[in-house]
Amino acid sequence: MTESWLTQSGAPQSGAPPSWVDGNELAGALAEVFAVDVTTAQGVCAGCGRMAPVAETRVFDRAPGLVARCVGCSAVLLRVVRGPDRIWLDLRGMACVQIAMPGTGGASPDGPGA
Ligand SMILES: [Zn+2]
Repeated sequence: MTESWLTQSGAPQSGAPPSWVDGNELAGALAEVFAVDVTTAQGVCAGCGRMAPVAETRVFDRAPGLVARCVGCSAVLLRVVRGPDRIWLDLRGMACVQIAMPGTGGASPDGPGA
């Protein structure tokens, strides 16, 4: 939240404000690609193995496109660049993405009952 780096007077607490926003910033760009809300997905960082919701990543939006970094090790998890007629999606920083899907009513062989 933006208020965390502002004092009551509105001045920055310690120098520059954070240059990132949270992973919810990705929702709009990725909604065009995926049929599900990817920000609710769990991503595993290829760098440190940390598993966290995509919405909790740190998204740097001052570069061309959006760059999502791991909160644990700052590695780049995901990059997305939207051009006028195409989108570039770089997911190499994520070892795995777990997306919750509606139940099929069938057996869940290894579901932990989450
Ligand atoms: Zn990491």
